[in-house]
Amino acid sequence: MAANWKMYKTPDETREYLREFLPLVAGHDRDEIVVCPPYTDVATAIEAARGSNVAVGVQNVHWKADGAYTGEISAPMLLCLGVTHVIIGHSERRQYFGETDDTVNLRLKTALESGLTPICCVGEVLQEREAGLTDDVLRRQCVRAFHAVSAKKAAKLIVAYEPVWAIGTGKTATPELAAEAHAVIRREAVEIFGDEFAAKLRILYGGSVKPDNAKALMSQEEIDGALVGGASLDPKSFAAIVKY
Ligand code: PEP
Repeated sequence: MAANWKMYKTPDETREYLREFLPLVAGHDRDEIVVCPPYTDVATAIEAARGSNVAVGVQNVHWKADGAYTGEISAPMLLCLGVTHVIIGHSERRQYFGETDDTVNLRLKTALESGLTPICCVGEVLQEREAGLTDDVLRRQCVRAFHAVSAKKAAKLIVAYEPVWAIGTGKTATPELAAEAHAVIRREAVEIFGDEFAAKLRILYGGSVKPDNAKALMSQEEIDGALVGGASLDPKSFAAIVKY
């Protein structure tokens, strides 16, 4: 169960959030729980979450270890802080910051090689869904994201299906529709990585997950967890989703 805080919260707000959130999920061992704050909150979050069942991730990573890349953050920089997870290819990065299937592939390979757990986002925009192109889009995004990645290297991979039309809009995919898309992704994972890997691959759903729709979504066999944006900003609300 992963929280994407996007560009919200200061270090003080992060400390306060975790002070409230950690007791609410203490002892919850059914799911892996990860909070992905902005980079500026990472050190505070790691300190506040130390010894708890909550891991700290980030929302992006550059593919180079270092170099003249103004404004970028590398995997070694994150690992030395204690970051364990990274969201890759979020639709907001694709939409506003020029992220492409090819840069998703570069980031994903770096994350896997460096030992970070990547949460790789795929999903169609509304026009693609309306044109009946959802399956093609998901297949293309998977093929390109996982290009030249072996099943062995991909062991930690998590995929998030996030229909772009459902992100931050209050429109949620129905559980059945989400499950269909997850099945497409899993079938593609069979093609790329083989049956055994695909059966174990964790596929999260993201797109307006809230405490009141989490249970219906999570009860779909195909849905292994959630990537939560807006509703993760409130500790009670994210805890309610985690514990649905
Ligand atoms: C997200 O940012 O990944 C997301 C799913 O956002 P929201 O839950 O706000 O739709």
